[in-house]
Amino acid sequence: MKKMMCLLLGMAATEVFGQSIFTYKLGSIEVHMLVENTGAGRPQVLLGADDALKQRYLKPGFQSSTNTFLIKAPGRIVLVDTGFGGAVFDSMKKLGVSPGDVDAVLLTHLHGDHIGGLSKDGKALFSKALVFLAEAERDYWTRVNINAGAVAALAPYSGRIRTFNPARLGAALTELVPGISAIAAFGHTPGHTAFLLQSGNARLLIWGDVMHVQDIQFPRPDISVSYDSDPAMAAETRKRMLEYAVRNNIPVAGMHLVFPAIGTVQAAEDGYRFIPAK
Ligand SMILES: [Zn+2]
Repeated sequence: MKKMMCLLLGMAATEVFGQSIFTYKLGSIEVHMLVENTGAGRPQVLLGADDALKQRYLKPGFQSSTNTFLIKAPGRIVLVDTGFGGAVFDSMKKLGVSPGDVDAVLLTHLHGDHIGGLSKDGKALFSKALVFLAEAERDYWTRVNINAGAVAALAPYSGRIRTFNPARLGAALTELVPGISAIAAFGHTPGHTAFLLQSGNARLLIWGDVMHVQDIQFPRPDISVSYDSDPAMAAETRKRMLEYAVRNNIPVAGMHLVFPAIGTVQAAEDGYRFIPAK
């Protein structure tokens, strides 16, 4: 099914040595960006981008990644998405975190490259974590357009799943766990969610799959990809997120941005530009 193709980003699981973890300090929180894999990007997934546009923005051999984010806050460990369940676990180990230490897993959406690490052989890999996801996302994939992979990944967490209704961008926020709130980022999937982290005055927007091909989608946020279940809505969400990030000077982080996958957004002559964190 096309909508589940996000897990097939066509990336070889190439290890980028020395570029598997990027650590970002946010007030009293440490945000560790964990690379699951990096490989060749796929220009053919771009919708409505002609050859001239691709030639203008895409460098030959441009890359795409799949990432997760491990948040170490005082007294709490939170994971945002689980990747495919591969290299992410090695990176957690390097950081001295075992899956049993994770208190909460927040899910941006239920595509396979985000929930592949939740369960194995019918068992929950995170023995004590609560799993948070948008009610609309859970309902869509487990009741409306049933996806066996999503159902199987969530099944071992029965009784530990907490659903929520993410706030519209700019509306009052409700914290899911201290310092982390959910924001509606619908379009990539029906319940796709971004998470806003706050520690003191520092903020970070982890926006999930708002963007897949950054070299073209920062300057041209109107371009969606074939992985988006509603490309028009995904484009609207992308534009609103970018505008919000610039207006409020909030750094962004993404599951398919390339290393370091965290940075600031600036308005540019043609749309926006991304300044990677150092
Ligand atoms: Zn994805």
